[in-house]
Amino acid sequence: MTLVSHVRFQSAVVFNLYQIRWNKMQIIIGNNDEGFGSELLCPNCCSSYLHHYKVDVFERTQDAKVGIHCTVSGEITIIDRLLEGNPSPRRNGLNIFLWCEKCAVKSVFSVSQHKGHTIIDLKCIN
Ligand SMILES: [Zn+2]
Repeated sequence: MTLVSHVRFQSAVVFNLYQIRWNKMQIIIGNNDEGFGSELLCPNCCSSYLHHYKVDVFERTQDAKVGIHCTVSGEITIIDRLLEGNPSPRRNGLNIFLWCEKCAVKSVFSVSQHKGHTIIDLKCIN
């Protein structure tokens, strides 16, 4: 994984963006100018207006077929033992589902464990 800093033009505004490159996937993160942390940008249009609408947390021991799965969406929380949708093939994982205010594309930001590494990913899902 390589962290690259570069300058990109978007809608006549200059953003200093950071790209995290992992294989062919790219996660684009905006500036941290206001000190609240860096903005995750839409994988479809690079807008920073991403909204969370659901979070999935998966907890299990290595290679276990069942574990703990917790979904929080709005005011609803569901806890079960199903691991379908876990971004990690063998361990724990986290999915944050997002929708973009600008282009309406839905995406998922995932964090997973694999072979001692913490893997992040951001994919469009519609
Ligand atoms: Zn978008």
